[in-house]
Amino acid sequence: MEHLECDRCGRWYSDQENVDWAKQQTDTWKELCRRDGVEPRGLVACPVIPCEGEMILISGRRRRPNTPKEALERYPRLVGHLICASLGYFTPETAANAVLNYIRGEPNWCEWYTHMARGWDTDKLLQVGRHALEDAVRGRHHHQGYMAHYPQAQALVEHVLKGGAGPAFASWF
Ligand SMILES: [Zn+2]
Repeated sequence: MEHLECDRCGRWYSDQENVDWAKQQTDTWKELCRRDGVEPRGLVACPVIPCEGEMILISGRRRRPNTPKEALERYPRLVGHLICASLGYFTPETAANAVLNYIRGEPNWCEWYTHMARGWDTDKLLQVGRHALEDAVRGRHHHQGYMAHYPQAQALVEHVLKGGAGPAFASWF
């Protein structure tokens, strides 16, 4: 079993067609990277538009995260940036759950998303969830200062990863 996994946003492809395509494209990608003076990490670039991740080929048993805790362990930086993008509405646990829903292509029914989707329509919630993740990735260099301070989010995420209790309602208010 092989699959492709983005090393930044967690986007996941396990269908053979995409895996084969990435393998065909990889020489071109690696040449482009080296021309820019950077060492390629994966086979190709992540197709999610604002994401600067690369698709890593993984063979064998590495499982897709199945629980919010596994999503938190696998993507701590993304969780931190999503907390910032939510202006502290998400806690490490609820942000990790939103990342997990995103990876699985499932809607997340939190108040923030249902507010943005203006209801509980599944397609709208999926779209809102994608946009939230994209905003988190796109805004990652601007997450500082009031309500969106990445170092604060990062410290919280690390605290929870080490087994500490996360905040109950929101990250910082
Ligand atoms: Zn990505």
